[in-house]
Parts: sequence; C-alpha cells; structure tokens
Amino acid sequence: MSRDREEGDGKSRRGSYEQRFDRTSEVLLVRWHDNKVVNVMTNYDAADPPTSTTRYDRTAKKRLPIPQPKVLKTYNTGMGGVDLHDQLLGAYEVAIRGKKWYWCLITRMLDMAVVNSHILHKTAATGDQLSLINFRREIATTYLKAAACERDAARPLPSHIPASLRYDGVGHMLAPLNARRRCQLESCKLRSTKRCIKCDVAICFKCFAVYHGLSP
Ligand SMILES: [Zn+2]
Ligand SMILES: [Zn+2]
Repeated sequence: MSRDREEGDGKSRRGSYEQRFDRTSEVLLVRWHDNKVVNVMTNYDAADPPTSTTRYDRTAKKRLPIPQPKVLKTYNTGMGGVDLHDQLLGAYEVAIRGKKWYWCLITRMLDMAVVNSHILHKTAATGDQLSLINFRREIATTYLKAAACERDAARPLPSHIPASLRYDGVGHMLAPLNARRRCQLESCKLRSTKRCIKCDVAICFKCFAVYHGLSP
C-alpha cells in the first residue's frame, strides 16, 4: 500500500497499513491505522497476508471487520507470553545495583536467560522439576562450587553436590585424600582415601563411575 495514496485520502482509512523493508538489516517496519497509528518493527514476521479484526464503527453503530497486518496478530497472540515472562523476571531479580547505566541491561539479560532456561528445564526434566528459586540456587551453587574447585582442597568436604555439576561428565578425576573419609556414594558405607577433585567429595575407586552416573 503506497504512502502517496494514503496521503491523497486526507485521513488514512481504518485498518489500512504501509510497510517498508530495510534489506540491509532485514527489518520490516509496519504502520497500521487503528484507532491510533500503530508502528511495529519485526525481523521475522510479515505484514502480508493481512488478517482481520473487528472495531466499532460509529456510522454503522456496530463492530465491523477491518484488515490487520499479520505481524500485529502474531504480536497479540504472543504478548501473553511476554507478560508472563515479565512477571517471572520480577519474582527474583538480580539485586546488585551498578553505577553504570548499562548495568541493568546486563542483569536483565541474565535474568531473562535464567527464566528461559527454567522453562526449558520444566519441559525437558524427566525427574524432579525444580522451582524457579531452586533452579536459580542450583545455578549459583554450581558456579560457586566450580570456582571453589580451583582453590585448595583443605576445606571441609561439602555434602550436597548439584546434579548439574555431579553428572556433567567433565573434569572429574580421582586424587588422594590425606585422611580416610566416608565415601559419598549413597549406597556405599566404606571410608575412602580418594576424592573427586571436581566434586571435592570422598569417593572410592570402584564407586567413582556410579557416583558420576557413568555406569549403572
Ligand atoms: Zn566428581
Ligand atoms: Zn564407595
């Protein structure tokens, strides 16, 4: 729909729309004449073919169908998800405030990634599903634990190893322990002189693979 014809009409017809496509950035701009002018930009949807919606018409005194660009239909269908996403983000936000203006963008992106990962977790998890707060705890614990593994091994041995660390199959190795400690495989009652350097738990040689989910 050309802009010239629109301007020639004096007032743009209800439901009419114009579009421009920027080939360089592959972004489509759509201007739709609803009650007010609605401008949208999209990098994955199209305006055509138009769908239809209804608006009250004062002359006809009833709701009449008017054309609506396809991208607006998609937006209205999907915005429920955006609302829900915002709500989930608000539940547990990164609370560290930075002085730089862009700090909130960084923490927002982290929060968004965590919320999206949690949605994937709920879709994919076969066993226990973690609540959002416990999911965040598990991520935090994993990173803290992974960082702690790089420090010395003189600290007390932890009791809980996040599953995402214990079963990730990366970097688990046996190393000697100074003293005998209770093997951390749930079904083992022995005391071991070995530990996993990544999980930092005491573990027997024969329990190592089972503990890490590498053999039944
Ligand atoms: Zn391990
Ligand atoms: Zn054992």
